[in-house]
Amino acid sequence: MDELISQIADCLINSKNAVALTGAGISTESGIPDFRSPGGLWTRVDPGEFSIDRFLQNPARFWRLHLRLKESGDFDLASAKPNPAHFALARMEQMGILKCVITQNVDNLHQKAGSVDVVEFHGNLLRAVCLKCRALEPIAQAEARLSNGQEEPPRCQACGGLLKPDAVFFGEAIPSRALMISQVQCEKCDVLLVVGTSLQVFPAAQIPITVKLKFPPATVVEVNREPSAMHERITDHLVLGSAGEVLSRLSDCLEKKKTCTAC
Ligand code: NAD
Repeated sequence: MDELISQIADCLINSKNAVALTGAGISTESGIPDFRSPGGLWTRVDPGEFSIDRFLQNPARFWRLHLRLKESGDFDLASAKPNPAHFALARMEQMGILKCVITQNVDNLHQKAGSVDVVEFHGNLLRAVCLKCRALEPIAQAEARLSNGQEEPPRCQACGGLLKPDAVFFGEAIPSRALMISQVQCEKCDVLLVVGTSLQVFPAAQIPITVKLKFPPATVVEVNREPSAMHERITDHLVLGSAGEVLSRLSDCLEKKKTCTAC
């Protein structure tokens, strides 16, 4: 693996606009289950519960499920801490190598690790949004009112509208600003680091296809426990293993190489 890591490090050092695309797999080492791995969330929860239609039919039922997942510790994002994979990407940004992280995750862990340029493609589950006036509030406040029995479902403090977790549900559009920034990043991207995603959720899974189809195509590096659905089509360098271990080794290698070229 050392040779492969060294090759990928060279590729990143020679890049002008390296971008990372991350998914739920980068956060499993922080104790947050992904969706599709064995023991993932979909083995315990019906994915249909996360559709906007079902939410609107019965928001109180969704909010009860949300609280149950949090209280059982199964999906407690507020207490989760970044792991070595998140820190490694933040270090790569500090080194000036990684220009941006586009994340499908809603857990805020890239920001907690120190990454600055983060595109939240699927929103952020630590916020709640009012469906009427679009005001945002920390989701913990809505959860507190819900668990005190004050409000079911929780309502906007400003206008009384229905609150929804500020994450993209199935059937909802990607936030337009995130979509626009991702498109610009794809146009400039020459190396795409794909980490911890099965690439089965669109339009996020379109990102590696887009960077491969342009001319010249970007180099795609994939770090996953299991190869993604489209690795044969898009991946130039496939590293199978734990994101924490692989990305830590990669950022160590980058630091060494950068120091060597500087002396
Ligand atoms: P997914 O569950 O479909 O796939 C996860 C991928 O990560 C798999 O390929 C798996 O092999 C790999 N993986 C798991 N643990 C790993 C590890 N430690 N190191 C390296 N690879 C690992 O997840 P997805 O493709 O991101 O799609 C699911 C959607 O669910 C996303 O859109 C995301 O918004 C959402 N989601 C987010 C979170 C979160 O915010 N942490 C958690 C669950 C789901």
